Amino acid sequence: MNANNLHIPTVINYQCTGCGTCCGGWAVPLTPEDHKRIADVNWWQLNPQYQGQKLFRQLKKFEQLNTPYSHKIISDDGTCPFLVDKLCYIHSQKGAEFKPSICQLFPYCFTDTPSGTYATVSFVSIGALHNAGQPLSEQKTVLEQKLAEFRRLFPDYKPDWSKIVLSAQQPISWDEYLKHEEELFSRLNNQSLSLKERLQNCCDYLAAQVEARSQVSSDASTRRLNLNKLDKHLLSTFHKMYLPSKPQRSSEKDFHTYRFWFGTIFNASTVFEINNQYYAIDQLREIPFPENKEIDDMLYRYVFSHIFGKKYFGAGFGGLSLVTGFHHLIMIVSLARLHARGLALSRQAKSPDLSDMTFTLRKLETQLGETKLGPSAASSLELLLQSSSRAQRLLANS
Ligand code: SF4
Repeated sequence: MNANNLHIPTVINYQCTGCGTCCGGWAVPLTPEDHKRIADVNWWQLNPQYQGQKLFRQLKKFEQLNTPYSHKIISDDGTCPFLVDKLCYIHSQKGAEFKPSICQLFPYCFTDTPSGTYATVSFVSIGALHNAGQPLSEQKTVLEQKLAEFRRLFPDYKPDWSKIVLSAQQPISWDEYLKHEEELFSRLNNQSLSLKERLQNCCDYLAAQVEARSQVSSDASTRRLNLNKLDKHLLSTFHKMYLPSKPQRSSEKDFHTYRFWFGTIFNASTVFEINNQYYAIDQLREIPFPENKEIDDMLYRYVFSHIFGKKYFGAGFGGLSLVTGFHHLIMIVSLARLHARGLALSRQAKSPDLSDMTFTLRKLETQLGETKLGPSAASSLELLLQSSSRAQRLLANS
């Protein structure tokens, strides 16, 4: 193990575009130290706009689960109240090191693993979504500085990768995982195929690995490509979680943790609510999806970043198996493609464009970042998403 070995992706670029958008659409969490430092300031004395405004709230127990955070900044209209004239007021008054820890690091993310630390960026950032600036691999010094800050801000971060599995009951070593990842990347990076074809090849590869270990025939060979009722219920349920039409109250986010899964999936509808309109999944599938290289590339980088950053399985996402974690990524891609169509419909366009996909992926990434996948939700996902055949149907129909 070499935890000081910093791995930096070559296909992800980042540069701040200065648009201010990144300071909206998500609730900024605060560590206890952040909260003490920032909440101790009389902000209303510095700026009358804060007079009488409640700026912070304590996180509920389930919101704190597996996080270093204790509070968050309250945002009434979806934009951080400290964003003033497209600039951070905390930064302008007190300096960069006074900002919340997460804002100091944003959008850089790091994952420690047995083979070193993997860096990537959050796709909540508009600069990351549009691949603005230099490749991260050419920003090594900045990445090293950010990693040092990350270590200082989150000293207790120690993800446990000791119990990773390929699929349920199929343990694998970290070295075996890295070989599977290499195979996934060789298929994902094959630019001569469409993104959907590349993802299908990845699914086939994983299904063959599961089959070889279990000596049970994979369901992929007998797949039907029409969505069944449960597929649609799942799509609709995930859509409600990851692309909600209205901002969720914190009590609603409880369903990210435990209670939600089996209680509602079978009663779920088969529609998406988008901008206060309801669209049947079958209706969305009818809308042509453009052959647009920029959209394909944006989705590709999104998937690549989650795999490279190990943010999709094991200690990187709810302890999911590699197969279920990858199928969950397929679910995300399918939701993104269907939701972008709904956005196009809601503005009376014939098909989605890059701005629809940008808006969709940013919202997905924001919600995923706030998702707390507790043990019972993770077990439910293992049951519902381990099927290669389902993953293929989701892809084929998105
Ligand atoms: S605290 Fe500052 S940097 Fe963080 S979201 Fe608010 S305005 Fe942006």
